[in-house]
Amino acid sequence: MKKLIIFVSLSLLLAGCAAPQRQPERIAAAKISRVIAGKSVQNKKIEYLKIGTGKNTIFYLAAIHGDEAQGTPTVLKLAEHLQNNPQLLENKKAIILSEANPDGVILKQRFNAHNIDLNRNFPAKNRENNEKYGFKALCEPESKIIYKLLKKYKPRIIVSLHQPAPNKPGWIDYDGDAKELAERMASACDMPVYKYGSMPGSLGSYASQKLNTPIITFELPRDANATAEILWQKYGDALLTALE
Ligand SMILES: [Zn+2]
Repeated sequence: MKKLIIFVSLSLLLAGCAAPQRQPERIAAAKISRVIAGKSVQNKKIEYLKIGTGKNTIFYLAAIHGDEAQGTPTVLKLAEHLQNNPQLLENKKAIILSEANPDGVILKQRFNAHNIDLNRNFPAKNRENNEKYGFKALCEPESKIIYKLLKKYKPRIIVSLHQPAPNKPGWIDYDGDAKELAERMASACDMPVYKYGSMPGSLGSYASQKLNTPIITFELPRDANATAEILWQKYGDALLTALE
């Protein structure tokens, strides 16, 4: 008991002597929910991250083309940043599908394990049925997952990360009412806005034509050696612009 009294008195004395310290305002980190959306052709789990609770939803997805995988570390960095900066998600929610085509990533190929181009497998007005794009829209489990996520979350904007053919620089493309956003994103990084044109049955064509949802196709340059840190440093601000 005596010891306790001495300890308490000593603590009070020290507290009295110490200069008042300002505690930095601590904002709790945002909660990240991991949700399994389904499985790929080769039975690989396809998971997405849900951060924030607001209605205003921004949907980021990467690696719909398996050999364009640098979008994955970039959006995972984005998730980490949003977790640590929850004020960026006030009234908003980010849905992050970091690996839309996991079989393609493992096989190091553009297509899924059925050799279908998932980014041509959507029910857009300009859809073409064939061996490469699928004989039916949404015939692949991976494109069906993206379709269902769009129906479920009804995002205000979609940002899909790709990489162009080797030796081509990166650029920012858009479909639908996203010209102004594309320009703002371009001014936040080193890539220009470039209108590549609507591809048959692409996610861009489908989202803009059928859902009236603007979509940015963010074509990261083919810099195979870039680390997640470098990618985030170069393109993080541009990706965050879509949240504003
Ligand atoms: Zn691509």
